[in-house]
Amino acid sequence: MRKLAAGNWKMNGTLADLAELDALALACAEATCDILICPPATLIHPMVARIGGGGISVGGQDCHAAESGAHTGDLAAGQLRDAGADHVIVGHSERRADHGETDAAVAAKAAAAHRAGLRSIICVGETEAQRDAGDTLDVIARQLAGSVPECATADNSVIAYEPVWAIGTGRTPTNDQIAEVHAAMRRALAARFADGAEMRLLYGGSVKPSNAAAIFALPAVDGALVGGASLKAVDFAQIVAALDAA
Ligand code: PEP
Repeated sequence: MRKLAAGNWKMNGTLADLAELDALALACAEATCDILICPPATLIHPMVARIGGGGISVGGQDCHAAESGAHTGDLAAGQLRDAGADHVIVGHSERRADHGETDAAVAAKAAAAHRAGLRSIICVGETEAQRDAGDTLDVIARQLAGSVPECATADNSVIAYEPVWAIGTGRTPTNDQIAEVHAAMRRALAARFADGAEMRLLYGGSVKPSNAAAIFALPAVDGALVGGASLKAVDFAQIVAALDAA
């Protein structure tokens, strides 16, 4: 299974920041894992033009479930593809919280991504209150059941476990907690999809150079979805190196 280091720039970055991409491409020229950067939509085409055909893929951070139409401010999966993206994140907890996205909405977006030829990165994760209540595995099972569409395959879908309370906080679950959730996700996906055992599972939430190696050493962790530490090439390149070494 190919490992994946995915960076989510969120609402950060302008054309001036493409220099970070150059630095990343240089630092990761020998990398063997898959590398993906999901910049703001304004930077997708400039990034693809800059690194065209190089070892770094470019993805969107969200897409609409419809192919086109009266949805002011939204982007269709086909438009992301047209701009040169080959992946799209769906169901990030910030989208779920800020835009009220339900599991069904996330599944519809993932299905739209697949129809457009994009690989979806489908995010799930519990809140701190849910973890404290002992509900983590139930929440993840429910989100997986509702957010991963029937058309998902190991080729067109990647699942990211991102505890909401670990995103951007500097806090991470214990390694045992990450391993427990990833094992449960692997079991659930294998039970539901013919090639579910082959779906790549990413961990996301405050991954940084100092904790990446320990997280990547865990069973059923096939890479990471990285926010803050993906903004600086020097940090993200160290995470890529840790993944390659795992
Ligand atoms: C994210 O938003 O997907 C994320 C994991 O952010 P951070 O790495 O900054 O916690």
